Amino acid sequence: MTIFAKLKPLAEARERLAAMGVDRFNVVMEEVYSATEARVNGRRVILAGTNNYLGLTFDPECIEASCAAARSAGTGTTGSRMANGTLDGHLALEKELADFYGCREAIVFSTGFVANLGMLSGLAGPGDVIMIDTDCHASIYDGCRLSGADILRFRHNNVADLDKRLRRLGERIHRTIIVIEGIYSMLGDRAAIAEIAAVKRKYGGYLMVDEAHSLGVLGERGRGLAEEAGVENDVDFVVGTFSKSLGSIGGFCVSNHPELELIRYASRPYVFTASPSPATIASTRKALALIGSRPELRQRLRENAEQLYRGLTALGFRLGPDVTPVIAVRMEKAEAAFAAWKQLLVEGIYVNLVLPPATPDGGSMLRCSVSAAHTVEQIEAIRTAFEHLPADWR
Ligand code: PMP
Repeated sequence: MTIFAKLKPLAEARERLAAMGVDRFNVVMEEVYSATEARVNGRRVILAGTNNYLGLTFDPECIEASCAAARSAGTGTTGSRMANGTLDGHLALEKELADFYGCREAIVFSTGFVANLGMLSGLAGPGDVIMIDTDCHASIYDGCRLSGADILRFRHNNVADLDKRLRRLGERIHRTIIVIEGIYSMLGDRAAIAEIAAVKRKYGGYLMVDEAHSLGVLGERGRGLAEEAGVENDVDFVVGTFSKSLGSIGGFCVSNHPELELIRYASRPYVFTASPSPATIASTRKALALIGSRPELRQRLRENAEQLYRGLTALGFRLGPDVTPVIAVRMEKAEAAFAAWKQLLVEGIYVNLVLPPATPDGGSMLRCSVSAAHTVEQIEAIRTAFEHLPADWR
């Protein structure tokens, strides 16, 4: 028995996939033409699996802001927020995030993953409780582990189950954080946030919402699911990422609790990692401003999501329950999912292949994500490629 023994099943799974001609960790974007097209393995493809919801990665203003910041402040901060890694831009972005959410405080982290690690481990510790939806992202699970708190899970979006588990906590409710996502990253469904907020009002505790996939997507001003559902006052902490609608990389938390400021001192994933580069911060600031000034992007995104969801439903595919830009095409058999993923790539469509254990229910799926930058013709091309898949794979 060696340290590598636990990697053996992974090696075997990888070999099985390779034998079928699938090496999904070897998809190389050899040239990126736009927010929606790239050359992948020598072929021009439509990108339908990038989380580039507003298509801002190629926005000229964002690119210009990024280039100007690199010229004036250099390529990287080479240090953490606590040391030399806090520049004017980091503070300006924190202020802009707080204003955008109408919140008192904001903290910028290096990625969305790090934001979840940093917030959960900074807020909770041994003796506290973190109550998470079973479908929460890996970074939420890992943040819970890092905290040392007791981790309890409620069944996905099952408010009765949450209610029952919160009731059992008794006095411990005052040391409990409930964690949900705005749009769940795999099935693309919305959290039952209005009902969850009502349960939180009934028992107490704190509510954290990861709006990674809903920032810039949902709500009148693009603030996410809590805004769309009208329950922002019940949310104690919003966390999110810059790596999806904002088209860069980084993470954040906003809150009205003044204690958020103290997380900067309590959170090792904040203190001991380098901060986002000046270019990253500059393009993120521009993208955040564009969410406010270009609501038509959200409208385009919604129309594209509806077009693809409708088209795939009519073809008989099993999708997630909600129409959002994350469209999960569910497949019973992993073999059919591999084969379909490969055929789509040959037909010029890139989607995400998601296999167990990354899927919520042990099935497999082709996860599509739609962008405001997709044209009607591109959405139709995606639908047509799915139409060419054999009927018995649906
Ligand atoms: N939270 C959720 C719900 C996510 O889906 C992701 C990324 N897929 C993250 C956090 C992590 O974000 P980042 O890519 O910025 O690390």
